Amino acid sequence: MTTDAHPVNPGTPPHATRRFDAVICDIDGCLSPEHSGPMDVPSLAKIAAHNHLAQDQHDRPVVTLCSGRPQPFAEAMCRLIGNRTLPIVCENGVWMYDPITNEYLMDPAITEHHLEMVAEASRWVRTDLGPRGVAIQPGKAASISLYHRETDVLRGLLPEIERVFAREGWGLRVSMTWLYINCDLAHVSKATGIARLKQRTRLTRERLAGIGDTTSDLAIREHVAWFGCPSNAQNELKSRADFVASKPEAEGALEILCRVSV
Ligand SMILES: [Mg+2]
Repeated sequence: MTTDAHPVNPGTPPHATRRFDAVICDIDGCLSPEHSGPMDVPSLAKIAAHNHLAQDQHDRPVVTLCSGRPQPFAEAMCRLIGNRTLPIVCENGVWMYDPITNEYLMDPAITEHHLEMVAEASRWVRTDLGPRGVAIQPGKAASISLYHRETDVLRGLLPEIERVFAREGWGLRVSMTWLYINCDLAHVSKATGIARLKQRTRLTRERLAGIGDTTSDLAIREHVAWFGCPSNAQNELKSRADFVASKPEAEGALEILCRVSV
C-alpha cells in the first residue's frame, strides 16, 4: 500500500547554507496569469534556473507548488520550474505528486463514498447547470470547478449551488475564486495537502517560506515562517505578508525569491 512517508527526501541537508529549504508557491496569479493568456516564460525560466542551483548547491530554497489546479497542469508546472526533489500539492489538497518517485498520492482520507458524492454532484452540475452555460473544468478527480464565460452569471449561481448541496447532503465546501466556483470535499484543503507535504519531506514551518495571491493561500501563510505576495494579490492577503513585491505574478515571484535566497 502506498503511504505518504517519503522514501528519499532526508529533510534539511546538513551542509545547507540557506535560510529556508523550500518555498511553497501557488500557481494561478503567482506563476501563471489568472486569465487564459500566455505564461511569462522568461520569468519561469529564471525560476527553473533558481531551482537547479537550489537542488545542486543547497544554497537557496527549492520552489515547490501548492495549487487548486488539476494534477496534470500542476505536474507540468512542476517540471517547467525544474522542481525534481520536492512533492507538490494539487487540486486543493486532493493530490500530492512526487517528482522523485513519480507517485500520484491521493489523500488517504478520501474514500469511495466521497468519490461517489463528487460524482453525484458533478452529474447534477452537468444536467442542471450545463444547459445554462456552466462547464466543469477538466482534469479534477475528487473536486469540481465550475466555469462560465461570464463570471457574474457564475457568481449569481452560488446561492443555488450551496442550497442544492445542503439539500442533497453533499459535503462539499463551495467557494468563489477569481474565475471559478470551487467545490471541494469539506475535509480536504490546501492546508491538509501542505500538512502531508511536510510529513513526507520532514520539513518544518521554520524551514519553509511561501507565496500566494488569494485568501485560499492563507493555508500556505499559516504553514510557513515567511510569506510573500506578488503585487496583484488580494489586499486581505497582503496585510498578512512579510513582503509584497512591486511586480505582479511570475515577475513578483522572482522578486520574492531574491528576498528569501539570502
Ligand atoms: Mg492564486
